[in-house]
Amino acid sequence: MRLCQREGASCGACCGLYNRADPSRPAVRAELHRRTRALQDVPRTPGAFRAAARALESSAPAPLFPSVRVCALLGFLDAGETRIGCLAHPAVTGGPDLRDCGVYDASVCETFLCPSFSWLSEEEAAIAEEATGDFHLYGLVVTDVPFLQAVLAAVADGAGARVERRHLADARFRGALRRLLALKEELAPGSEGLFGAFSAGPGGDERPRRIDYAAIDRDRSRYDAILTCAGADPLSGNDLDRLEAEVTRRLDAAVAAFPA
Ligand code: SF4
Ligand code: SF4
Repeated sequence: MRLCQREGASCGACCGLYNRADPSRPAVRAELHRRTRALQDVPRTPGAFRAAARALESSAPAPLFPSVRVCALLGFLDAGETRIGCLAHPAVTGGPDLRDCGVYDASVCETFLCPSFSWLSEEEAAIAEEATGDFHLYGLVVTDVPFLQAVLAAVADGAGARVERRHLADARFRGALRRLLALKEELAPGSEGLFGAFSAGPGGDERPRRIDYAAIDRDRSRYDAILTCAGADPLSGNDLDRLEAEVTRRLDAAVAAFPA
């Protein structure tokens, strides 16, 4: 299964793409643009690339999770700035493998497979690709398997049928599913839901989150799995009732648009 570079979407989450206080699309895009511009004329040698990477790091936004590295060699692969990937990869440099100049070394970059490779089916990956269709939302969704699976299960529950890749051929349903998945990039600024059902611990480590319904004196939501991944607990910065209503509204729209 291919997850990092698919025909219609690309991901750079494990290179630290979202590990910053402001992971919004404009902010992430601006940083990728800055790196790509800075590296485009750098000689394809280890010394020059390493120096350029360190210079980019010194002026980069601070990471939200200090224990998760952010690599300055992730950038745009195309002039239209639609696809992201490693600017040090031999397929991009035209020959030399310069990935040792990043925050890991080339062997780590070459062999790393994130947990989504084990947890996602090819069908689910294709649905994520076709429903999102760009680097920002795709990366958020494909690396949050519980969120994607909870969304697909909720749509299936309402529609009475499993969501399959062929259903994405229906533009109305595809748009409605994208709106539902796009909750991931419309959360409150700094929301922990951007990183799935985890929050940053005091040492920058990842800690599982759960919604403490008793503390806010209400029953468990029927969409708890989606809301937990999206970060709807009081500490996340999102309003639970508002987010639950938004989940319900977008879910109803996806179910109504489900192809017969
Ligand atoms: S987070 Fe996973 S899918 Fe994304 S680039 Fe890394 S290995 Fe690939
Ligand atoms: S060098 Fe490794 S960590 Fe850096 S962008 Fe390339 S693949 Fe990602």
